[in-house]
Amino acid sequence: MSSQAWINLAYLTASMLFIVAFKQMSGPRTAVRGNLLGATGMAIAILAACFEQPVTMSIAEYGIWPLLMLIVFAAIGGGIGATMAIRWPMTGMPQMVALLNGFGGAASMLVAAAELTSTRAVSRFEESTRQAVAAASLEPWTQFAIAIGLACFIGSVTLTGSLVAFGKLQELPQFKKPWDNPNRQWINLALAITAFFLLWGVFGTSQLLFFLLLVLVAAALGVTLTLPIGGADMPVVICLLNSYSGLAAAAAGFVIDNSVLVIAGSLVGASGLILTAIMCKAMNRSLLGVLFGGLGTTSTVDADEVYDGKIKSAETEELAMILEQADRVVIVPGYGLAVAQAQHAVRELADVLEARGTTVEYAIHPVAGRMPGHMNVLLAEADIPYEQLREMDDINPSFPETDVAIVIGANDVVNPAARNDPDSPIAGMPILDVDKAQTVVVIKRSLSPGFAGIPNPLFAADNTLMYFADGKKALIELTAAVTRD
Ligand code: NDP
Repeated sequence: MSSQAWINLAYLTASMLFIVAFKQMSGPRTAVRGNLLGATGMAIAILAACFEQPVTMSIAEYGIWPLLMLIVFAAIGGGIGATMAIRWPMTGMPQMVALLNGFGGAASMLVAAAELTSTRAVSRFEESTRQAVAAASLEPWTQFAIAIGLACFIGSVTLTGSLVAFGKLQELPQFKKPWDNPNRQWINLALAITAFFLLWGVFGTSQLLFFLLLVLVAAALGVTLTLPIGGADMPVVICLLNSYSGLAAAAAGFVIDNSVLVIAGSLVGASGLILTAIMCKAMNRSLLGVLFGGLGTTSTVDADEVYDGKIKSAETEELAMILEQADRVVIVPGYGLAVAQAQHAVRELADVLEARGTTVEYAIHPVAGRMPGHMNVLLAEADIPYEQLREMDDINPSFPETDVAIVIGANDVVNPAARNDPDSPIAGMPILDVDKAQTVVVIKRSLSPGFAGIPNPLFAADNTLMYFADGKKALIELTAAVTRD
């Protein structure tokens, strides 16, 4: 078998591993194995790429240096990646995903730039021009140039869009308020049209100049597209940027004729789009509405108006008594549960209540926390039986028959304004109907808003008792109080 055949076999194996990995990552039980399979596939793909002709040719030409550089940079990149993965807190994962999407976009753009300036590109252009003269066709060069242009355009949009998304998710002050320029759609349109014409320029003779201009315009477009999107819509944006990074990688795969990059990029592109559609459905948003409608922007409702004189806070003993009398308790975890790292404490409270004969279930909102599936992963860490986790549509009808709903560090996903206030930035977003439970206990540290930055009328409702404390501390105290009685 020729060496190219071995490389193709390795690429095929890597691609198959990616597909199996994706399947396994779709369930919390198999996700860890899926992740490992994906990483193994990537390691095989990288190794095989090192034996590809361009690398071996440059080793023949320049000696050991290209290989040495490859190993050193792979080690540095791998080291940074591993350190980030170990050190980065779970609650900061979306920011990390945003950054990695951006790096993916940048890598594809750089690959396109390197290829455009390489001798291979020059010879392809000359060859195509010769063929064009002979057969009045520009096909091979056109395909190559389209791939380069797309890798550059999508990569650059992804890079700056992801950096803005990072700033928003990290809640950096500069990105707190969505960009509210009434002409932003015109600005976007002007940038998109300019990018289109620059893309044509990449096909011509001054490719590099047009390429650089295309990078700049696409970078500006990434910023202007992402900046207006409000906090509540960020989950959709993250999934979309993830998809873009895959598409940019697929285009880069066409640029360098690398089949595994095309396959992996397409898989990421397609799965990102599917996830985007799922998130849009979960939040009752249309994709166009998120991208161009300015939904999810700021609220005009004043927190004092909502809360003044209406907040009732409760003591541990009082809450313990209410819990002891409950037949059915539904626990609603949110981002704050992850911040407090209270997943084990919540399980202990549930165990104590169940031992007293109470039915305990968990209500999972699809965008609770800061990434899709965040709550499932968190609760799985504490070995909470998967059967007790109930999805929003499944559990919502049962809230009126629920004695106590305990909301721990959740805010936006239980905000009735989504149902009742058509002007709310989260209007129309499906929520967990905890306000319909007999008693609602909300555990959080203050009346601060959630990610969407809006007040929550649930906290002021007649059947709500606030328990102001850190999630973990509150749960430990409650468990101790229930156990004492
Ligand atoms: P929210 O962001 O709405 O609210 C979290 C609440 O947790 C805050 O009000 C905060 O209040 C409280 N909190 C923080 N730390 C603690 C702590 N140590 N102990 C107790 N409470 C704490 O979270 P939700 O889960 O309800 O909603 C998720 C939001 O994030 C949605 O707006 C969603 O759109 C967005 N989002 C979701 C993504 C996803 O993919 N799932 C990705 C990006 C954004 P206080 O400070 O008073 O304690």
